[in-house]
Amino acid sequence: MKIAILGGGISGLAAAYYLQGHDVTIFEKSSRVGGWLSTDTSTGFLFERGPRTFKTSKCPGLLDLIEDLGLMEEVIFCERKNLRRYLFINGKLRRMPAWTPALLKELLFEWKVPPSYEDETIYDFACRRFGRTAAWHMFDPMTLGIHAGDMHTLSMKACFPSLKQLEEEYGSLTKGMLKKPKFLGPPFIALKNGMQSLVDALEERLPSTMLNTEVKELRFEPDRVILDTSRGPFEADFVISALPCHVLGRLLFPELLQIEMKGCTLVHLAYTRELAPKRGFGYIVSSLENHPLLGVIFDSMAFPQHNRHPEETRLTAFVRGSVQDVLSGLRDHLGITDEPAATLVTQVDNAFPQMTIGHEARIQKIVNQYPRLKITGNFLYGVGVSDCITAAKSAVENLLSVVPN
Ligand SMILES: Cc1cc2nc3c(=O)[nH]c(=O)nc-3n(C[C@H](O)[C@H](O)[C@H](O)COP(=O)(O)OP(=O)(O)OC[C@H]3O[C@@H](n4cnc5c(N)ncnc54)[C@H](O)[C@@H]3O)c2cc1C
Repeated sequence: MKIAILGGGISGLAAAYYLQGHDVTIFEKSSRVGGWLSTDTSTGFLFERGPRTFKTSKCPGLLDLIEDLGLMEEVIFCERKNLRRYLFINGKLRRMPAWTPALLKELLFEWKVPPSYEDETIYDFACRRFGRTAAWHMFDPMTLGIHAGDMHTLSMKACFPSLKQLEEEYGSLTKGMLKKPKFLGPPFIALKNGMQSLVDALEERLPSTMLNTEVKELRFEPDRVILDTSRGPFEADFVISALPCHVLGRLLFPELLQIEMKGCTLVHLAYTRELAPKRGFGYIVSSLENHPLLGVIFDSMAFPQHNRHPEETRLTAFVRGSVQDVLSGLRDHLGITDEPAATLVTQVDNAFPQMTIGHEARIQKIVNQYPRLKITGNFLYGVGVSDCITAAKSAVENLLSVVPN
């Protein structure tokens, strides 16, 4: 039985990992696997051009995978004091959450609000359960930081399913957080030599991979699937798509083209001295500020294990604007005026699927449309690397449950 995996990002690599022992080929358009996972050391500093942390509590399978790949020695943690996050709002950088009386009042009375099972926007959810202060001080930064999106349009159920679940299971988020068993491990982990180590370790285990091979069309026949690729046609018995949302939309499901994909520019900056105006993980710029700078990660503080120099500061800024916008934002928000020793720019287009109301129903419609096709990827059930690994595992389980022995 031949299985074709389309797309060699973390979703496709994880699917291949869970299909070890089967006849699997990955078809990847670019000259490397890994997709958004990519670590750059060309400047003499370590920069993650894509994801930098894994959320461990969301995917115990991720830790098993890391262990099985022999990467346990590589795992590094972010110290608790460096997990602090800040919000730039009303012209000031404030620690999150800012315990103002208004916010405290909203948090204290949340348990009294009856639960709702409707799909609603993140803003409506936050205002219904808490109030406008929590919406702007907690939910707006979370939406920007994880989905690069607007809380007024994105669906609470699709973007933050575990929080919505707390409301549905326990009647309230505060009650749920108190009662739910806690994950005792560190909330975030990273890898000593960067995310590329995970890609390299998976690649070593991989079946055959066809790089520089773009899948251009898929045809389903009663007993097989024909793939038209830039290198000619291939046949498979089953296909797992780990393609980005719009690519799969253009191939098979035009309705996926309705999902807006957001992007931004990443500006990675390195300095050869310690500039530590604030201790923590980084900050988000509130949407109320209407600033081109979306947020900044204090890389060298969050993961000093990645530092390569006795004294260094590494920052990654997410911006919908220019390097100049970043530099002036850093000057105004953090007082940084030094000339960077290294600057690296990563263009991140069409990276963040905007899951609006009705997202779950839209996805349900497509996932089982073709019996010989299973779908995985970051636009289904969550954008995090852990979500992608969970989704890939479940696509493989679905596939193996219909495959004849
Ligand atoms: C800048 C950034 C920072 C992030 N930070 C974090 C973080 O810290 N933690 C976290 O958990 N998540 C983070 N994420 C989210 C996470 O990295 C992504 O959601 C995840 O990597 C997506 O993986 P994927 O395999 O589904 O898609 P992709 O990585 O997009 O992979 C899809 C693959 O398909 C290939 N392809 C495209 N078209 C074709 C075709 N026609 N034929 C064949 N192949 C094709 C592409 O070349 C690509 O390799 C971040 C994302 C970005 C962009």
